[in-house]
Amino acid sequence: MIKQELHVIYGTNYRQMVKDLLAKMQLAAGLDSQMQVAIKPNLVVAKEASQGATTTPAVIEGIIEYLQANGIHNISIMEGSWVGDDTKRAFRVCGYTDIAQKYGVPLYDLKDDDFLVKRVGELELKVCKKPLTADFLINVPVLKAHCQTLLTCALKNLKGCIPDSEKRRFHQMGLMKPIAYLGKALPPGITIVDAIAGDLTFEEGGNPVRMDRIIAGRDPVLLDAYAAWLLGYSPSDIEYIGIAERIGAGSADLAGAQIIEHNTEHKQASRFQPGNRAKQLARHVIAKEACSACYGSLIHALQRLEDNGTLRLLKQPVCIGQGYQGQAAAGLGIGQCLRQCGSYVPGCPPTAKSIVDFLEKQLR
Ligand code: SF4
Repeated sequence: MIKQELHVIYGTNYRQMVKDLLAKMQLAAGLDSQMQVAIKPNLVVAKEASQGATTTPAVIEGIIEYLQANGIHNISIMEGSWVGDDTKRAFRVCGYTDIAQKYGVPLYDLKDDDFLVKRVGELELKVCKKPLTADFLINVPVLKAHCQTLLTCALKNLKGCIPDSEKRRFHQMGLMKPIAYLGKALPPGITIVDAIAGDLTFEEGGNPVRMDRIIAGRDPVLLDAYAAWLLGYSPSDIEYIGIAERIGAGSADLAGAQIIEHNTEHKQASRFQPGNRAKQLARHVIAKEACSACYGSLIHALQRLEDNGTLRLLKQPVCIGQGYQGQAAAGLGIGQCLRQCGSYVPGCPPTAKSIVDFLEKQLR
């Protein structure tokens, strides 16, 4: 049986990273020049990507440059911001109007689009016509936490492809079931996750956490399962992942998947700069030359402990960073660099979930 693949690439040259990733995945081999390709970023609000809410423009530029270099020119970008924000303003503020001009790619505000009704099981869902009728949908979510669903990533990003009235109805239905069913009504051809600096707690941004990686795969459910681990959750904590798996929208079986890392030498490419909320959580941390990929996982893990009320029990410092290589550390260690430490969590970088499990064990 062929294993589903997830590709992860590290670094800070985001445009080039996307091009490299798509070349390694040989995306163009499955496309032809006649195809209409729709790119769906996350522009939930009109805030620059540095705030942690919206898709980094360089990621979209990398996708377009890859497609155009491979003879695919019928490309468009489409989005419908959340109820209460103006997609056209988001296009402008987030740098997408400039992208459209630079590459000759049209922008479509899905709030102006017609819809079709798609039946999935017992649910009828209204889905915007443009993404539904595209030949190939490229879903480009931001990896971030969410106050209601805990996680927003691959499946939830598709909610931008439904009319505002349907977004309201999704909330009335409790979000979980319709999000899962939408994954079946509108399956993306590929999902490319911007995990560069998504928000720590809310989908509207304000507390970005640098993680400096991009993740891609064909199965949105698998991507969401992996994303859950990166934010300190188990996939079973995210209700819509289980529902999506049960209705056949994909598989959350990470153990049966092949996770392929690229540019691992670039994990160390950037140093973590905590901001806002992350600064408060960082009071527990002693960092020496910590990579963003690693420190970002730790900040998400500390936030999960704060959420479940156990962070106040943490009395020892948590040590992280390449500066600890080959040295003992007085505290709990995070990542391979701390393997000299009496008690440490392995991984380079470890996932937030493995850090949560490790710290909770220490606190018992
Ligand atoms: S374990 Fe060390 S090298 Fe690896 S990501 Fe963490 S700080 Fe960087």
